[in-house]
Amino acid sequence: MDHFDYVNGVMHVEQVPMAEIAQAVGTPVYIYSTATLTRHVNVFRDALAQLDDPLIAFAVKANPNGAVLATLAKLGLGADVVSGGELLRAIAAGIPASRIVFSGVGKTAEEMRLALEHGIFQFNLESEPEADMLSEVAMSMGKTAPVAYRINPDVDAGTHAKISTGKSENKFGIPYDRALESYAVARDLPGLDVQGVAVHIGSQLTDLTPLEAAFTKVGALIEQLRAAGHSIRTADLGGGLGVPYDPSLPIPPLPAVYGEMVTRITKGWNVRLMFEPGRVIVGNAGALLSRVVRVKQGAQAPFVIVDAAMNDLMRPSLYDAWHDIRAVVPVGRRETANVVGPVCETGDTFAMHRDMDVVQAGDLVAFMTAGAYGATMAGTYNSRPLTPEVLVSGDKWAVVRARPPIEALIEGDSIPDWVRD
Ligand SMILES: *Cc1c(COP(=O)(O)O)cnc(C)c1O
Repeated sequence: MDHFDYVNGVMHVEQVPMAEIAQAVGTPVYIYSTATLTRHVNVFRDALAQLDDPLIAFAVKANPNGAVLATLAKLGLGADVVSGGELLRAIAAGIPASRIVFSGVGKTAEEMRLALEHGIFQFNLESEPEADMLSEVAMSMGKTAPVAYRINPDVDAGTHAKISTGKSENKFGIPYDRALESYAVARDLPGLDVQGVAVHIGSQLTDLTPLEAAFTKVGALIEQLRAAGHSIRTADLGGGLGVPYDPSLPIPPLPAVYGEMVTRITKGWNVRLMFEPGRVIVGNAGALLSRVVRVKQGAQAPFVIVDAAMNDLMRPSLYDAWHDIRAVVPVGRRETANVVGPVCETGDTFAMHRDMDVVQAGDLVAFMTAGAYGATMAGTYNSRPLTPEVLVSGDKWAVVRARPPIEALIEGDSIPDWVRD
């Protein structure tokens, strides 16, 4: 559920007409709803109510905007970070280090040092060489690093190949079958405190079966590790729960159903459970608002050319992702059209042969469910400035990232004298 609704035929976000924001900030612009963020945090937390003190660490990469992170920090969430930059952004937004977990296959010594200085809750290690490096860094600082290994359970998440992470051929985690050896290596390394097990098999999961299979493997591993003398106190079950993008498809499992499954599978584990939800918290809380530049005739269907492009919202070109596209003021008629951006790539296509509201030049359209992996992936391809972001709460709204002037792009380059001469 979200808070993007039509009031008298005009799309609002909470109590603010979308057109008011377009007028003031220009388009394209990302718009986030505080009420939706809050609702999703509460729904996710309620789903885990049977668990003892779970740590819910928002996957920062889904939406690292400072105002979004600060909203989630106020609601008590921690953070799952995958770079030194995300760590600093989470801390700057008020998320305490004691609720931060650091994932990723390529953590550098410098990032490890930064995380140790701040005293984060857990490092999720993804290989034995990474354990070696963290041991050295921690020793050089006279510190002990709390660690878990992320295991690769060799489970097919059944999602798009580019967001599947739990098959043995993927780069993530340590092979499940070698886990006992890897844990033995880590236990003998100075400066590491081996406290847990972690897993994350992919994103936009629309079926709980692969998650249940992965969690069952984690449970079995915890038993084996304890039998081998390890003191396992945490289990990080990752993120991955899908959100509804296409209203014509069945809705993905609700957090409550996920929570029931987790509660059932983890019964008797006797660990602190950790979760890393990203998309399910922010996906439906955001929309990308864009204006139609012109409509041109196509061979089969008209091309609706909008002022948003693949650099603003990469998901369709990167993952063949489907976003609902709605007129902000629907005229009540529908047609089949193609929706494209102005970038000079055929991949700059948001939808082909889409049944959608009839729109014309100057109309506003909203790309729905764009709060996750939207602005965070934006770039400046075709020398388009980064997309601005707005946060709404009730009848209030604020720009939480301004549109940079084009001069910033130009001035960012420096031209050596020997080129100028
Ligand atoms: C991306 C990621 C997540 C979040 O995934 P969602 O599908 O957005 O919930 C969680 N954990 C790790 C390690 C990730 O890489």
